[in-house]
Amino acid sequence: MKPAPFAYAKARTLDDAIRLLGEHKGDAKLLAGGQSLIATLNMRLSSPSLLVDINGIGLDGVSVKDGVVEIGALARHVTLERSSDIAKHAPLIALAMPHVAHPAIRNRGTIGGSLAYADPAAELPACLVALDGEVDVTGPNGKRAVKAADFFKGLFETALGAHDVLSAIRFPAAAADTRVGFAELARRHGDYALVGLAAVAKAKGKSLSDIRLVYFGVGALPVRAHKAEAALAAGAVDEAVKMLDLDPSDDLHASGTVKKHLAGVLLRRVAEQLAEPRA
Ligand SMILES: Cc1cc2nc3c(=O)[nH]c(=O)nc-3n(C[C@H](O)[C@H](O)[C@H](O)COP(=O)(O)OP(=O)(O)OC[C@H]3O[C@@H](n4cnc5c(N)ncnc54)[C@H](O)[C@@H]3O)c2cc1C
Repeated sequence: MKPAPFAYAKARTLDDAIRLLGEHKGDAKLLAGGQSLIATLNMRLSSPSLLVDINGIGLDGVSVKDGVVEIGALARHVTLERSSDIAKHAPLIALAMPHVAHPAIRNRGTIGGSLAYADPAAELPACLVALDGEVDVTGPNGKRAVKAADFFKGLFETALGAHDVLSAIRFPAAAADTRVGFAELARRHGDYALVGLAAVAKAKGKSLSDIRLVYFGVGALPVRAHKAEAALAAGAVDEAVKMLDLDPSDDLHASGTVKKHLAGVLLRRVAEQLAEPRA
C-alpha cells in the first residue's frame, strides 16, 4: 500500500523539531530511522499531515562520564553494536543488539525510535528497565528525565506527549561487580522475540544481589519478575523458575502457557550467564 499524502520538514535542531510538532497540534510525527514508522504509514495505520525528519539534529553520540553511559536518541543500532564504549560499559546492550532486527534495519533504526515506538516484544525497552535507566524527554517546556519504569505506559504507549522528543538515554555504566544476562527465543534470529529476558545483577563471590529480571514479549510492556529475582538471589534457580510471576496472554505467535514455559527456559539460561564473570 501507499501512504496517505503528508508534508515533510527537515528539522535543523532539537528546538526546531519541537516547534514544528507544536505548529501541527498533534498531527505531526517524528521521523528517525523510519524502520517502524514508514511501515505504519504504508499500511495506513497512521496518517500524519507532517513528517518532521530529525536525522539532521545531531544527538547521535555515546559518552561515558562519572560512571554514567549517555546515548543520544539518534544513535543508530549499528553504531551501538560496533561501539567499544558500549561493549565495555554497557555489556547488556552489546548482548542484546545482534537480536534487534536484521542488519539492514539496524543500519537505519535508532535507539530513540525503538524506545519511543515501545513495541512490547522489542529488546531495548526491556534492557533500559533492567539497567534502571532513564530517558530525557524534551518538549515545549524544556527537558525532563523520566525513569524507564515510568516511561513505558502500555501497549505502544509511553510518557511522550505529542510535542515531545525523546532526546537521550542514560543508565549506570557497568562496574567490576556488574553481571548481565540476555536471552530470547524468536522464530528466526533477528525477528521480534516470542519471549525474551534482559537481566542485571551485582556479584560478590558466588552470590548475586540487586537482581533485575525484565521480560519482553510477555505483556503490554517490559515486565519485571520480582518473585523470581528474590529466589535467584537466594541461589535457588529451580525455585526462581517455579516462582516466575508472569501471566502472559495468548497472542498470534504462542499461547500464554507456552510463553510461560519459555520464560522459565530463558531464566535458566540467563541464570548461567549471571553466574559467570564477564570475560
Ligand atoms: C522487519 C523488521 C523487523 C524488526 N525487528 C525488530 C526486533 O526484532 N527488535 C526490535 O527492537 N525492533 C525491531 N524492528 C524495529 C526497529 O528496531 C526500528 O528501528 C525501531 O522500532 C524504530 O526505530 P526508528 O529509529 O526506525 O524509528 P521510526 O520508525 O522513525 O519511528 C518510530 C516511532 O517513534 C517515533 N520516534 C522516533 N524517534 C523519536 C524520538 N527521538 N522521540 C520521540 N519519538 C520518536 C516516531 O514518530 C514513530 O512514531 C524491526 C523492524 C522491521 C521493519
